[in-house]
Amino acid sequence: MSCKCDLRTRAVGDGCRYCNPQHYIDILEDQTKDDSAEIEELISDIDSYIKMTSQMSNEIVSQQAEIDRLKGQRDRLYEELKEARDEVANQASAAHELLPYKPHRYEAYKDQLDRIDALIAEIEAGK
Ligand SMILES: [Zn+2]
Repeated sequence: MSCKCDLRTRAVGDGCRYCNPQHYIDILEDQTKDDSAEIEELISDIDSYIKMTSQMSNEIVSQQAEIDRLKGQRDRLYEELKEARDEVANQASAAHELLPYKPHRYEAYKDQLDRIDALIAEIEAGK
């Protein structure tokens, strides 16, 4: 056989897989336990990593849905704002004809138009 252990080594219960198979089996079992604990830890790490990434992607999906909803709302308000702008522009041009008599009315419409135009520009910049 391949045992190269001396008598003293065999006597104290050490030795190799040939002269002391039980000792060898014990060492292997300990190693297997260590390895299997490491593998359990790895599995648990990967499991929580997968849960975390899937939770994050769920959050991203619901945030994207919220962004889409807000964009739809913005687009509807934008259309309403453009209609309001046409209306205010009509009123401003009617008021412009009365400018010598009622200058404040025209100024008020003009001011409103400027604010609407600023909002329209801001919405268009964010699109
Ligand atoms: Zn041996």
